[in-house]
Amino acid sequence: MVDLKQFEIWFVTGSQDLYGDETLRKVAEHAQIISQYFNDASEMPVRTVFKPVVKSSGEIFNIMQDANVTANCIGIVAWMHTFSPAKMWIRGLQIMQKPLLHLHTQYNRDIPWADIDMDFMNLNQSAHGDREFGHIMTRMRLNRKVVVGHWQQAQVMNDVAQWTRVAAARHDMKGGKFVRFGDNMREVAVTEGDKVAAEMTFGFSVNTHAVGDLVAVINQISDEEVGRLIDEYQSQYELSAGIRKGEERHDALRDAARIELGLKYFLENGNFKGYTNTFEDLHGMKQLPGIGSQRMMAAGYGYAGEGDWKTSAMVRALKVMGSGLPGGNSFMEDYTYHFDPANNLVLGSHMLEICPSIAAAKPSCEIHPLGIGGKEDPVRLVFNASAGPAINVSLVDMGNRFRILVNEVEAVAVTEALPKLPVARVLWKPAPDMATGCAAWIYAGGAHHTAYSQNLTTDHIEMFAEMTGVELVVIDKNTSLRQLKNELRWSEASYK
Ligand code: MN
Repeated sequence: MVDLKQFEIWFVTGSQDLYGDETLRKVAEHAQIISQYFNDASEMPVRTVFKPVVKSSGEIFNIMQDANVTANCIGIVAWMHTFSPAKMWIRGLQIMQKPLLHLHTQYNRDIPWADIDMDFMNLNQSAHGDREFGHIMTRMRLNRKVVVGHWQQAQVMNDVAQWTRVAAARHDMKGGKFVRFGDNMREVAVTEGDKVAAEMTFGFSVNTHAVGDLVAVINQISDEEVGRLIDEYQSQYELSAGIRKGEERHDALRDAARIELGLKYFLENGNFKGYTNTFEDLHGMKQLPGIGSQRMMAAGYGYAGEGDWKTSAMVRALKVMGSGLPGGNSFMEDYTYHFDPANNLVLGSHMLEICPSIAAAKPSCEIHPLGIGGKEDPVRLVFNASAGPAINVSLVDMGNRFRILVNEVEAVAVTEALPKLPVARVLWKPAPDMATGCAAWIYAGGAHHTAYSQNLTTDHIEMFAEMTGVELVVIDKNTSLRQLKNELRWSEASYK
């Protein structure tokens, strides 16, 4: 999993020279207390670093410059304890390359009714100081997150913590390297896309590597290492009859373990954050990677099938955002429907590659034939996913821009035995209802592949879309098709 504590946010407080040393000393003291409070909070996934109060255009420019080049700084939290005339912020904001959260708070929670005087008023001015700051960011057309409330309120901490997770994913994407083994599945439209535009927009690169180069790594894995991984499989999963040690198909399990180790070393050696492959290009491989891809996802790598590099990158982004939270994130595909009017359901799955981080119980490790790909039977983890609220996220290329689509869903417990279904599966009900949710997804051009999350919400994805400047379309309990179609029309104009 990705360790978010390696990342830091900078707590930057704006002021000016007008107030004298005593007031500025108090401003710094208060800012330090709030910064420390965030840093010490168990809910906060990243470190919070206090920065000296900035009081001039030059100081603001310098701190933005420092933030830009500090490798572990993922974003800036800005607060105007006093008034900080915002023309001073223009030069700094012009060069700012990190996401910004505008914390609209106040050191004291309550007005001290009996003691309030003009000294108090001069010190505690964020109610209008933050509006001046907000104005310049709007005037400069800068996306940011505004969080309002007293800094000790649980909701404020929650909002800031949530934003840091998204900022971490944004940071992780910049310079992130993804491998595409082979090309897209032939003739498929939605998995295509402009990799140059993606790198300009999101900062990650997607480059091809020959499957033969992966096969060469797989073939170098020692028998001892394969044995150790088999032991790990035994301890983590129920191994089905036939593939256990000494049984007739155990060699297939060893082949799968060897493939997993090859993938692992290939990704580690290339410093890659994710990959995609296709069953149409497996030259030299014995099996389509099943358990290997499932476990690479569980380890935090991005993955999607059939050359779908956009979904692979989204899965990685969700893995970073959700790091350390209960629940998981996975590559997903809307597979088949249950059109019972009393109980409409989508069955989500893939031919093999669903991440065990979303499993409701211990997965079973099984081998079954696979009708496509023309290779030996692949080993895979089979399980039911947990019930509960979730989101499906799709990143699509609209030709002139990217669009991120979210559908809020409610996963339900899988109560049927499904004895002949040889893959991991999820059952969910899309919001606002089956007919509207599916129609909205189709009108919006959403892919059949998604990144599925149990531990993130639409709020995370909304912030991510804003940080990257990408269109967001949300399908939730309030969606009406007429309104959504208008939104899509207006977006066309907005992004022209
Ligand atoms: Mn697929």
